[in-house]
Parts: sequence; C-alpha cells; structure tokens
Amino acid sequence: IKKEKNRKESIIEGNNINFKYGDTEILKNINLDIKEGNFISIIGPNGSGKTTLLKKFLKILNVKKNEILYLNKDLLSYSNIEFAKMASYVPQFGEQNIFFSVEDVVMFGRNPYLKRFQEESIDDKKIVEDVMKLTGVWEFRDKYITELSGGELQRVIIARVLAQESKVIFLDEPISHLDIHYQIEILKILNKVKKDKSITIVAVLHDLNMAIEYSDKIVMLNNGIVEKYGDIDEVITKELIKKVYKINFEILTHPKTGKKYFLPDYK
Ligand code: ADP
Repeated sequence: IKKEKNRKESIIEGNNINFKYGDTEILKNINLDIKEGNFISIIGPNGSGKTTLLKKFLKILNVKKNEILYLNKDLLSYSNIEFAKMASYVPQFGEQNIFFSVEDVVMFGRNPYLKRFQEESIDDKKIVEDVMKLTGVWEFRDKYITELSGGELQRVIIARVLAQESKVIFLDEPISHLDIHYQIEILKILNKVKKDKSITIVAVLHDLNMAIEYSDKIVMLNNGIVEKYGDIDEVITKELIKKVYKINFEILTHPKTGKKYFLPDYK
C-alpha cells in the first residue's frame, strides 16, 4: 500500500510559502508536497497559521509566481473557472453570510463563479440532489439557511463543495459545529469521495483522534512553520505534541484494531 501511495502524483506543491500581515510574519518558508487522493489533516495551536495557509492555497490571499503549483502548473496561470474545478473551500464556520434556500446554496457549487440565475442542467439537479441526500440536508432543502441550526448549515456548506466536484477540497474546521454522529458521518463521506473519486482532502482538524483515524498524512504547524509533515506515527508523538500544544497526554492502543488513540491529561 505504501508503495502505491508514493507513486501518486503531486497535486499541490507549496514552494517557500510566505505571508505577512503588516510586519508580522505569519507563514515562514513553508514547503509542502501533497499527493493526489490523500487525506491531509492540518493541525496546530490557535494562531499557528492554519487558516492563513488554506487562504494562500485558495488564492484568497496574494500568492507569488510559482509559490503554489497545482498539478505542476502555477496557480496564477489558472483562470477562475479552471480553478473552481481544481479547488473548493469550506471556510471556518460563521464566515458565510448568505440568505438563500438550502437548495440554492448547494446549487452554487455547480456554478461557483456566479451566474446563479442561469438555468441549471438536469445533470446539475441530479448531482445536487445526490449530495443533499448524502449529507442529510435533503429534508430541509426548501428552508432558508437562516432557519437552520449551526450543524445543519455546516452540512449544507459541505454539500455545496461536494456538488462543485473539484479535485481538491479544503475545509477549515469542518466538524467543529457538528454533533458526534455528524462529525463521523461527514468525515466518512469525505473519506469515501477520496477513495471513490481520488479527491484530495485538506482539512484543518482540532480533534487529534479524528486526524489519526482519517489522515494519510498530517501537517503540524507551529508559529507559521511546518513543525512536522508526515505519517501519523511521525507527527503524533509525545515530544511534538508536548512542544507544540504544551500539554501532557497518553497514547492508548485500541485492544481490537491496534489503532492509536490520544488521551489528554485533563488535570
Ligand atoms: P490558525 O488558523 O492556526 O488559528 P490563523 O491563520 O487564523 O491561525 O492566524 C495566524 C496569525 O495571523 C494569528 O496570529 C492571527 O492573529 C494573525 N491574523 C489572522 N488574520 C489576520 C488579519 N486579517 N490581520 C492581521 N493578522 C491576522
């Protein structure tokens, strides 16, 4: 399995990614090579630069020539329409400020560069129906999104990126407003599109157990640098977690699956 993973093509390449807000350096010389079809979790303390890094990958913040490549091609050479097929984004909860029905919002995924008054095709309708059913938002498709709970809204936003069918999906803390049922449900759906369609998932996750469960590789950010990028065992270590999060914890092994679990010291 390892060999097969290594053969995968590089879909995102970050070369010396830097970013400053004013005089403050937020991202410092970040180099990352992300393979197509991987589930990448980005972890790290508050303020370490996770959201800023996603915004660079998405061209929401300024990028320099050849700072970021998608499929070996400079991000800056993609048109907006081309880029919508390459990458989609679930921003951090609360950043969306839109007043449409659930179905309208999911349909935007079919048309991310606007034309929302354009007729959608039969195919678009079918795709939108499928992803609404998959994410469990179909029952309230006619509601306005202002009438939804936080967790319901989050699932609508996730349905929208699934409808967009981009090669990479970036998600900023996608499960932090969901109950435990939907936390697992959404990560399972993302894992399934990864496996079935070789979609690359790049998700900021705070729950280390979820990161351990679903990631192929983990990026650990600390103060704007990559503290570690690698397999789960290389990143979730006593030394690194203690250094970066300043907490103590135990790693437990599941008696049946042999998988590792993270148990913080709450005292
Ligand atoms: P994370 O997602 O890891 O919590 P962020 O990428 O949101 O971190 O933020 C990284 C740093 O950049 C923080 O110190 C934050 O205060 C700063 N920052 C974020 N957005 C802005 C902004 N618009 N202006 C100035 N500083 C910002």
